[in-house]
Amino acid sequence: MVIERTVAGVAAAGAVALLARRTGSLSTSGAVAATITGTVASAASWGWGALLIGYFVASSLLTRMGAAKKAARTGGVVEKGGARDAWQVAANGGLFALAALATVADLGGAWSLVGAAALASAAADTWSTEIGSWLGGTPRSIVTLRAVTPGTSGGITWWGSFGAALGAAFVAALAVATGTSSALAPSIIVGGVAGAFADSLLGAAVQARRRCPACGVGTERRVHDCGTATVPAGGISWMDNDAVNFAATGAGALVAIAVYLSSLRHAPQW
Ligand SMILES: [Zn+2]
Repeated sequence: MVIERTVAGVAAAGAVALLARRTGSLSTSGAVAATITGTVASAASWGWGALLIGYFVASSLLTRMGAAKKAARTGGVVEKGGARDAWQVAANGGLFALAALATVADLGGAWSLVGAAALASAAADTWSTEIGSWLGGTPRSIVTLRAVTPGTSGGITWWGSFGAALGAAFVAALAVATGTSSALAPSIIVGGVAGAFADSLLGAAVQARRRCPACGVGTERRVHDCGTATVPAGGISWMDNDAVNFAATGAGALVAIAVYLSSLRHAPQW
C-alpha cells in the first residue's frame, strides 16, 4: 500500500536524516530535504527506499573517512564543506526523487532506470571526490589536462576515476539487491560513470569560478577562508556546484537509457 509505505518512509527517512544532522553530515535544511526525498522513495516502493538509504549511508561514511586529511588538501577551494544543505541534497537526489514520484504516479517503467542511474551518478561523483582526495595524486583538468589545485572542479585523478566506477557499481549492485532487474545493472554502471565525468566536464567548462582578491587564489566559495568576499573569475555565474551536480545526474540517466536501449534485442524489460 502506498499509504503504509509513505508513513513508514517519513519515519525511517526522518530518523536517518536526524541522525545525519547530529553527526554533521546534513544541515537542518538538508535533513528536511532528505526526509522528503526518502518519503517519496518509500512511496514508490520499499526497494526505492532501501536503495536511497544504502546510497546515503555509504556516501556519508565515505565522506567522514579521512576527513581531516582531505580538508587539508582541498579546504579553501571547494564550495561547501561539511554538512550538506537542502540545495546539495536536491542537486544529488532531486532527479531520483522525481523518478520516484513518476513511479508513484505510474508513468511507466523507464523511471526505475532513471532513478537508479541518477543515484549512481551522484554516488560516482561523491566517491570519486572522496577516494580521489583521500588517496591523492595530482588532479588534472579534464579539459586542458593541466595540473590543477586539489579540490578544483573539473580536476580528475586516476584514483578518483576508480572511485567513480566503484560508486556506480555499488549503486547498481544495491539497486539489483533491492528489486531492480539485473538486466539494467550494466546501464546503471555506465550511466553513473558517465554522469561523474559529465560533472567534471561541466565543472571545468561552465561552472562559475571565483577568486579571492586578497590572497589571489581561486575558490568556489563566496567568502574565502581569510574572510574576504570573493569576486567572479569566469564560467557562467549562476552555474554553481549544485546546478552542475543536478545536470550531471540528468546526463547519467540519459546515457543509461541510451546504453540500455542500444543493448536490446527484444522489448524493454523495465
Ligand atoms: Zn583569501
